[in-house]
Amino acid sequence: MSDKPMKTATKIVSLGRDKKYSMGVINPPVFRASTIVFDSMEQMRHAARHKHNGEMFYGRRGTPTHFSFQAAIAELEGGVGTALYPSGAAAISAALLSFLKAGDHLLMVDSVYEPTRDLCDKVLKGYGIETSYYDPLIGAGIAELIRPNTKVLFLESPGSITMEVQDVPTLARIAHEHGLTVMLDNTWASPINCRPFEMGVDISIQAATKYIVGHSDVMMGTATANAGHWDQLREHSYLLGQTTSPDDVYLAARGLRTLGIRLAQQDKNARTIADWLLTRPELDHLRHPAYPSCPGHEFFERDFSGGNGLFSFVLKDGSNAALEAFVEGMEHFKMGFSWGGYESLILAITGIDRIRSATRWDSSKPLIRLHIGLEDPEDLIADLTAAFERYNAVMGR
Ligand SMILES: *Cc1c(COP(=O)(O)O)cnc(C)c1O
Repeated sequence: MSDKPMKTATKIVSLGRDKKYSMGVINPPVFRASTIVFDSMEQMRHAARHKHNGEMFYGRRGTPTHFSFQAAIAELEGGVGTALYPSGAAAISAALLSFLKAGDHLLMVDSVYEPTRDLCDKVLKGYGIETSYYDPLIGAGIAELIRPNTKVLFLESPGSITMEVQDVPTLARIAHEHGLTVMLDNTWASPINCRPFEMGVDISIQAATKYIVGHSDVMMGTATANAGHWDQLREHSYLLGQTTSPDDVYLAARGLRTLGIRLAQQDKNARTIADWLLTRPELDHLRHPAYPSCPGHEFFERDFSGGNGLFSFVLKDGSNAALEAFVEGMEHFKMGFSWGGYESLILAITGIDRIRSATRWDSSKPLIRLHIGLEDPEDLIADLTAAFERYNAVMGR
């Protein structure tokens, strides 16, 4: 093997396909297991000593199906180890519970995925863990919010729905000056479009449900840690009982192999749609990290190597009836939660002001979130043109 570092596209194809996992077939097979049997007590002792090194010990610790996928994600994200979870939400809760205890304080980004906010307010609070929310664009101002008992700084960049991009290196540097653990929900970038560990993140989380799985048919989460945080993340997640089905991991690993090409195409398609939206008189502004109207756009330009199909746009005005007319009756865009599959999705999102507390959101201007799939953008533009006609008819224009 040469010493030359592999390019990302090559990594996506080759990582995790070591023969010790794959037995020589292309896709590492599905190993279903609870019990693993041993021939001797010495063999059991050996397995116990090496249970973190890709040797089978007990089903909950994983099988080669899991080890292969974990190795691939850890290397792509740039960390030392990856733990798997049955959903992105489980990855987030297990990561937080692994590093917080009663009496601790958590700094959470205001534009976080709504169920993460609810976890803080409805579950962690009851455990005696206090959460403060901070403006995603606070930058160096984060220092003023750090208390003696602050233990974790949690980022999500870009934020859910409103898409603010954070200055991750600045936030991580200040957090580390105060001894905090820095966690990032890195789902939008996927493991290939930014380098979280080079920016100072300690734990990078993926809702693998989205682009890694890529086909809208499996729930899964991953949390990848650096050397200083891997042992605790792995062991606490294990003790919290987190485990994943090998069939699901097989599908996620299969999705991973086309991640790069799907993301590149969906990014291109999304920018075609975004460019077209800029020509629409109804548009107030785009919330797409690659466009200057998105808060934190400069950090996207600096820290990301590409985008994907998910972005939002804000209309100048619109009644509930007009929004309904917009999103109902689409031909190609389907209405539904989640994103990251190969298909296009649309959501009119109202009440954003209710899920923000450190920042203000003007709910008089409606927001629509699009996920652009692999369809031909011309068909999607025709679909959106008809949607604007329905919307304008209700608005009396
Ligand atoms: C979807 C999502 C999650 C949760 O993932 P699930 O697999 O649905 O539990 C977490 N963070 C972000 C940013 C998401 O979009």
